[in-house]
Amino acid sequence: MKKLVTFALSAACVCGLALGIAACGDDNDDAHTHKLMKVDAASATFFENGNSEYYTCDCGKYFSDSEGKNEIRKDSWVIAAVGTTADAFDAFTVYNSASTKGSKGIVCGLDTGANAGPATYFGEEDKNLEWDGGKTTIGFMLDLSALEENDFTIWVLSFNKQEEGEYVHSGTHELRIGIAKTETGFVANMLAGVGFDETADLAQIVDGGKAFTEDDIAVTFEMSYDKSDSNMTYTLTVAGQEFSGSTVFEAQLTGFRSLWNAYLNKDGVEAYNFTRV
Ligand SMILES: [Zn+2]
Repeated sequence: MKKLVTFALSAACVCGLALGIAACGDDNDDAHTHKLMKVDAASATFFENGNSEYYTCDCGKYFSDSEGKNEIRKDSWVIAAVGTTADAFDAFTVYNSASTKGSKGIVCGLDTGANAGPATYFGEEDKNLEWDGGKTTIGFMLDLSALEENDFTIWVLSFNKQEEGEYVHSGTHELRIGIAKTETGFVANMLAGVGFDETADLAQIVDGGKAFTEDDIAVTFEMSYDKSDSNMTYTLTVAGQEFSGSTVFEAQLTGFRSLWNAYLNKDGVEAYNFTRV
């Protein structure tokens, strides 16, 4: 039975495709009058591309004007998302005065004060990047080449709940990953907490950590959150090494707050190409 249905669907698809091709073939360029559909301009956000206003026609051509006089190339209207460029520093609110704008993104500076590491918010105004709990992947690149043996950096992804209209965050709503330089390469590990104690934090990363050798790496946080039982399922990936698990967050999560909050014991680690898939 299942096979029959599959066959019927496939046949329908082929027919549709064939009809489409036939229509294209019959199209006479001289006789065709463009019927233009307007696509409104949209600003680029941190994670998503924007676009300038443009017009499309069924014939597959694109135009910058409503009369179809100025044909443009597909995707020439794309305005790149800020997070995929070196402008990451400008898009985040960076609290740590020791952090600077680098050639690729944010160069994390060592700050031993209250805001150790670049406490970076997605935006100052509402301090929340909305999230409905659906399966989401957030990622970025890290250039670790500045680290020497026993140096480390800790990345924290924080989540918001909402209380009386305010976005509230606490240390219990975080996922944390630590990366340390060793004699032979690097190790990454998930952390239960950050003690702001150099020796203890380094030991927590190295003990049971997973090794890798590259110093320019991808880091991704893939999560989904079930509001019915407050259970979050996640996979953190660092240079191809995976850390999976699940955890119950008692409050109803509404979004991300402090997106990337790096605590480190040496400055110079650069984060760039932030993405949301
Ligand atoms: Zn046309």
